[in-house]
Amino acid sequence: MELPRGVVAVKYLVQKFGGTSLVGEESRRRVADIILAARDRGYHPVVVVSAIGRKGDPYATDTLLSMVREIWPEIQGRELDLLLSCGEIISGVIMTATLRARGAKAVFLTGGQAGIITDSNFNQASILEVRPQRIHNLSREGNIVVVAGFQGVTEDGEITTLGRGGSDTTAAALGVALEAEAVEIYTDVNGIMTADPRYVAEARPLDVVTYTEICNMAHMGAKVIHPRAVEIAMAKNIPLWVKCTFSDEPGTLVTTPQEVRSRVGIRDRVITGIAHMDGITQLRIPLQTNGDAPMRIFQAMADAGISVDFINVNPDKVIFTVNDEVQEKAVAILKEMGFKPEVIPDCAKVSCIGAGMAGVPGVMARIVSALSREGINILQSSDSHTTIWCLVKREDMERALMALHREFELHH
Ligand code: ADP
Ligand code: MG
Repeated sequence: MELPRGVVAVKYLVQKFGGTSLVGEESRRRVADIILAARDRGYHPVVVVSAIGRKGDPYATDTLLSMVREIWPEIQGRELDLLLSCGEIISGVIMTATLRARGAKAVFLTGGQAGIITDSNFNQASILEVRPQRIHNLSREGNIVVVAGFQGVTEDGEITTLGRGGSDTTAAALGVALEAEAVEIYTDVNGIMTADPRYVAEARPLDVVTYTEICNMAHMGAKVIHPRAVEIAMAKNIPLWVKCTFSDEPGTLVTTPQEVRSRVGIRDRVITGIAHMDGITQLRIPLQTNGDAPMRIFQAMADAGISVDFINVNPDKVIFTVNDEVQEKAVAILKEMGFKPEVIPDCAKVSCIGAGMAGVPGVMARIVSALSREGINILQSSDSHTTIWCLVKREDMERALMALHREFELHH
């Protein structure tokens, strides 16, 4: 960071608080405690907030959305983003007020005011640039700067939003732009856990993991942190912490493989965590002859804007998955093309992720035997050097997660 002469370098700490951390005065007091403690340790806290609460709470993003959809079902683009951006503005002002009530100097900025510049891809905008000058100025004046997560502004002043989990992305982008000591993501669980604690009661928090592993876990459905946020932090090696707002547990450090090795030592860790994703339909399309059929199928899906996943092309059939919501549309297109797809709805993907599995023989065998011991049918599977995933029926998902968690002794 280039500082004008005579200006003392400051250490920034970006702290992001998720929706559940901001519900109710008591939680917000706790959030203020965390922020003020960071300031007392000599940091300039830059606070990123999500909208308060989850679906059903008065100012949660989903609530705002359902309110307007009742009267304007097809709302999209700039008006939709203007509405969606309100939740974070409300929670940011309230959090700023909470800090001020505690005697702290605090200022609130919208994403745009904080210098988050995005493209104009409304609802799913990408951050193009961060111009942190205003945050620098306000911080140097002794302010705790509170920034609305999940939103930015285009070059021509339109407010945009960044898609689900976008506040994590805001925090990571600010962390990079401010060259922060670390980015802390505060949520309602004790860090990144070996599996989603909502389904696996035995899941336990991981103390340290690599950026790549968490990126994979997030892509495979672990919604605790947005994969884009991890990628942004990884590009500049900014340490990322996932911590619980409501406990004093240390949380999870996300960092480089070197750092992980130095902390975990030589402890073997074949599988780091297990993730899941439901709401998936498998389509199996028998083919007379292979020929150009696979190409035509995938082109037709692409033309219809349907994203396909888990593709297997065989001489006599093409298999892939789509999200349940677009299943009917996909099937209609395939039938129109003269294919007779077999449709297997209500599937779920369970994935085992671990940098330590590369080159270790027998991992797939253990997965298959753990699932078959439970009588769980594997509908499809595939692997990369750090991830193995299996498609199962949704009704088998919980048992599959628990069986795999046990098999790889993740509860210890
Ligand atoms: P926030 O509102 O704080 O951003 P999220 O709901 O986005 O919170 O993320 C936290 C939730 O992620 C947890 O409550 C947990 O159920 C879920 N989750 C899924 N997979 C994991 C995992 N591997 N570790 C921790 N939490 C997970
Ligand atoms: Mg989140």
